[in-house]
Amino acid sequence: MTAQKQPTSPAPVLVLFRDDFRLTDNPALHAACASGQPVVCAYVHDPATYKQGVIGWWLAQARAALHDALTEKGGHLLQIGGDAVDIVPALVKHLGIKSVFWNRRYDPVGKAQDTTLKTTLESLHVDVQSLAVRLLHEPWTIRTGAGQPYRVFTAWWRAAQNMGEPGRCLPAPQTIEFHNYSDNLEKLLKAQAIPPARLPDGATAAEQDWPCSEEDAQEFLHDFVENNLAHYADERNRPDKDTTSRLSPYLRAGLLSARQVWHAVRAAPQKTVSAENAQTFLAELGWRDFAWMQLFYEPDLATRNLRPEFDHLPWHHAPDLLEAWKMGRTGYPLVDAGMRQLYTTGWMHNRVRMVVASFLTKHLLTDWREGERWFHDRLVDADPAQNAMNWQWCAGTGIDASPWFRIFNPVGQSEKFDPSGAYIRTWVPELRLLPDKLIHTPWKADAALCRQIGFTPGKSYPAPLVDLKQARAIALESWKNLPDRK
Ligand code: FAD
Repeated sequence: MTAQKQPTSPAPVLVLFRDDFRLTDNPALHAACASGQPVVCAYVHDPATYKQGVIGWWLAQARAALHDALTEKGGHLLQIGGDAVDIVPALVKHLGIKSVFWNRRYDPVGKAQDTTLKTTLESLHVDVQSLAVRLLHEPWTIRTGAGQPYRVFTAWWRAAQNMGEPGRCLPAPQTIEFHNYSDNLEKLLKAQAIPPARLPDGATAAEQDWPCSEEDAQEFLHDFVENNLAHYADERNRPDKDTTSRLSPYLRAGLLSARQVWHAVRAAPQKTVSAENAQTFLAELGWRDFAWMQLFYEPDLATRNLRPEFDHLPWHHAPDLLEAWKMGRTGYPLVDAGMRQLYTTGWMHNRVRMVVASFLTKHLLTDWREGERWFHDRLVDADPAQNAMNWQWCAGTGIDASPWFRIFNPVGQSEKFDPSGAYIRTWVPELRLLPDKLIHTPWKADAALCRQIGFTPGKSYPAPLVDLKQARAIALESWKNLPDRK
């Protein structure tokens, strides 16, 4: 009699999660489940890609939410600390994994890691599937007629629209067949401990402002499309109205994909949402892709002036001015309101981001990289491409940037975009009793009014840090003197 052959259990497959902490529209998870093999869901907390600050806290929240969602489906998210290039092959060998799935990354460190990892895994006869979902279009697919990357957003956006609609969204898997293992993998793989992610000092409202789960992200999206998309074009520059989507943190952590947002906007009823509003919003989403395209081709986007003539700009090194800017104590109400909103909540309205960036780089003549670093530390949506590109845009040092000589007047911007001072009153409460007319220029309040409302200029609220006219003249002069200015 021949011995009966024991059925061999199917080899598991691995899904690596990296800033795509969701079940819906997740091609890597979808393909792993479709393989019919048992699935291991893992996240490697790698010191090379680890981020601190509010974003570190936010990404930890997003991982925890994904872990909960996987637990509801009967599994969990394996979280291991260490170098992904070592940990993943070791994990694969230990569990006998035959296929690995991930969604593609485009940042320089992530790209390099994935290239090495792919080579190593393939040498172990493991199949690797790298899938596209992070952006609406792959960065290299939209090129000029001469085959070069675009340098101007409007031309890029026209070309992007000619690419047609982004792919359809994938549903969340109804069930996931998880691979069971009882080993203590952290111990076996000599994993490093994952440090607890804490909110930095002062970010007191971040937790309450940013509920963190895939359902919360969907709720923000639904609420925006339902209530605010219809007046996006008119109101998107108004911090007092606060009606933009606030989807940036959810896109950053991948609790939502860009194409989920795209299709939700396209599906909005035309009766209530005009084409102008939908198009204006989709173009903003386009800027996200445009930023990632820039980072793809310019890996040092966060550290190098893309216009080299700015290497000669005589930046001021004034730590006290920088500190006053960071803490919202410049004496310019809109700037201070924005910086305090950022410090407390981890987010700032886009119009105000532009105003505070212009003020730092031009009126304070401080290197944009200082601002980029501070934003990266404090933003809940801190993104290596969007942050760096926008700082270079505001400073005039980037491609398709606002020219250096376009210097936002923080008072004019305040009067135009926060006319009644509602935004300022929220974030700079010491100014709340000033009449609307004076809230943008508190130093103009006369003595009688100051006595009446108990306001002492320079004491209740700082005197202006610099004279706008003088600072603007110095900024323009510094720029005019640049050698090779274009
Ligand atoms: P909405 O107006 O609702 O826009 C929808 C989405 O489009 C946003 O969530 C975002 O993904 C994208 N988007 C909108 N404006 C831009 C833009 N100018 N550039 C690129 N993408 C855009 N955005 C980040 O997500 N992370 C950052 O680190 C970041 N840093 C910035 C730094 C500076 C100096 C400036 C001026 C802007 C920065 N932005 C950044 C862009 C923009 O301010 C935010 O995306 C936006 O304020 C987020 O709010 P929202 O989701 O309500 O935007």
